Amino acid sequence: MIELRTPTQIDQMRPAGRFVASVISALAEKADVGVNLLELDELAHRMIKDAGAESCYIDYHPSFGASPFGKVLCTSVNDAVLHGLPFDYVLQDGDLLSVDFAAAVDGWVSDSALSVIVGTPREEDQQLIATTEKALAAGIAAARAGNRLGDISFGIGSVAHEAGLKVNLQFGGHGVGRTMHGEPHVPNDGRPGRGLKLRPGLVIAIEPWFLHSTDEIVFDPDGWTIRSADGSRGAHAEHTVAITDGDPIVLTARD
Ligand code: MG
Repeated sequence: MIELRTPTQIDQMRPAGRFVASVISALAEKADVGVNLLELDELAHRMIKDAGAESCYIDYHPSFGASPFGKVLCTSVNDAVLHGLPFDYVLQDGDLLSVDFAAAVDGWVSDSALSVIVGTPREEDQQLIATTEKALAAGIAAARAGNRLGDISFGIGSVAHEAGLKVNLQFGGHGVGRTMHGEPHVPNDGRPGRGLKLRPGLVIAIEPWFLHSTDEIVFDPDGWTIRSADGSRGAHAEHTVAITDGDPIVLTARD
């Protein structure tokens, strides 16, 4: 079921958005050569406790996970791109790190992701991240009442295709509200003018993720961490966005 939020409810969702944005910013600042992924998870965990927020991930146990997630943050490094389960790994010079974080404040969820390079960047990785961010911006620009869901997907996919990237359709954006994953599914490629008509009050996570040279993925044995099938690196960008009768509101916008 697709739920629409009133303007008052969208205002009530703002603290969760601001909190998630603050955690993403803190993680981006902390991520550096020599930092362990478990330290990033601990930082996010501490911020959750200090804010009186609730983790959406720690008890999350969908059918594809071998066990509950057990951490509060996804950390995906290099050829890992989604759902990376934080483990005892120290970031190395040139690593491409994607963090994905969702939490609830006052019973409302927000969800956001960001990719960064630690240490010395490779130009191709910088370009991949820039393309992913550009695709997110295109998706947000299309998140307007009167448009259709396919316009968001088309906006995202067009940026990918222009950059010569393939798009995987197995994982994409989703409705966000009282829980982390609701309807509708928001594919990262599609045809304009098709699909669900966008109405004020629809709140969705828009989340392009692309791999350098493939659209095929493989899963780690734990069922969580998703990697490129060919070992090429991936990048991910995500915001939680409220559609209004005017401009979209990016609830997880960072300062
Ligand atoms: Mg997310």
